[in-house]
Amino acid sequence: MSLANTYARYPVEFVGGAGMWLTDAQGDAYLDFLSGIAVNNLGHCHPAVVDAVQRQAATLLHVSNLFYNEPNVTLAARLCDRSFGESVFFCNSGAEANEAAIKLVRKFRPRGDLVVALNGFHGRTYGALSATPQESKQAPFAPLVPGFRAVDATDAAAAVDADTAAVLIEPIQGESGVNVFDAELLASIRAACDAVGAALVFDEVQTGMGRTGSLWAHEQLGVVPDAMTLAKGLGGGLPIGALVIGPKLQSVFAPGDHGSTFAGGPLVSAAANVALDVIDDEAFLAHVREMGERLTEGLRELPGVVSVRGRGLMVAAEIDGPAPEIAKRALLEHKLIINATGPTTLRFLPPLITESEHIDEALNRLSAALS
Ligand SMILES: *Cc1c(COP(=O)(O)O)cnc(C)c1O
Repeated sequence: MSLANTYARYPVEFVGGAGMWLTDAQGDAYLDFLSGIAVNNLGHCHPAVVDAVQRQAATLLHVSNLFYNEPNVTLAARLCDRSFGESVFFCNSGAEANEAAIKLVRKFRPRGDLVVALNGFHGRTYGALSATPQESKQAPFAPLVPGFRAVDATDAAAAVDADTAAVLIEPIQGESGVNVFDAELLASIRAACDAVGAALVFDEVQTGMGRTGSLWAHEQLGVVPDAMTLAKGLGGGLPIGALVIGPKLQSVFAPGDHGSTFAGGPLVSAAANVALDVIDDEAFLAHVREMGERLTEGLRELPGVVSVRGRGLMVAAEIDGPAPEIAKRALLEHKLIINATGPTTLRFLPPLITESEHIDEALNRLSAALS
């Protein structure tokens, strides 16, 4: 196998997908409750995404950021219309969106520190990795970028001082197992930033694009950040990232400060516009909340499940057995795709188009894997 040894992959190769289902090389169908890690929020090969991508591919693929392209200009305006944003920097991934955010707040408050939360995850590039205080991910790659202060999320407000450029935090920590922060905690961090003129940046790479039952997770919290980072579900399955910049940080970047050759190209932007067409709809988001409740309640009733947490269709269950082995058994024996984020934690990130019957089927398959 000529792929670099950076992932412990399962022995499954997928060749096709439609809606909630993936098909492997043997022709077996799998029920997807992972969405390629919160990417396929519209399911696989959503007809509107396929159509927009096919048409855009035949029209214009790339021009660089020395020029405008219509799908990208439209996307930027829509993201600002539907958020606190005044402008958007585009990139190609979540890590890159966080790199842009880190550069933005450093320039905003030169030499200032970034306060980040323990168990947070912001990506694998050096700046984003330096903001990701997890020993196993950071230790082999020292020295890291200086100027990051990692604290327990409950201590983040107290850690903000006159040298703080920003707090960078996920409203719900995804990769470390769906750790839901309550609104009061995030509001206290907002207040601490305001008291010293620091910026608050939400990493909504995983929580954004409808995942928690509102377009952005922070809408349910009543806390507005000064910037937010997006990727994962933004492109309807295609790779695109974005840094949405609010009023406080709007005048920080100047031409030459940051860039990316591929970023915001017509193809990925056309796909993201379709993803917004589908997701930014109150009936669709209400459906996400309803399905999230059905999944959460169903999980609570399964034998072997100790507790369930999450919001919308971003859900984790603590179980009384070895989660990595259960996830593997679910995949290989019961054709249910889920993932383990810890020794006893299973995470569920189904496509947001899931219907009740898919939830019930996933619960049946999981129940079989657990017994
Ligand atoms: C996945 C993720 C990232 C990194 O995104 P990549 O596209 O893999 O670089 C950053 N932040 C959060 C919250 C994520 O879930």
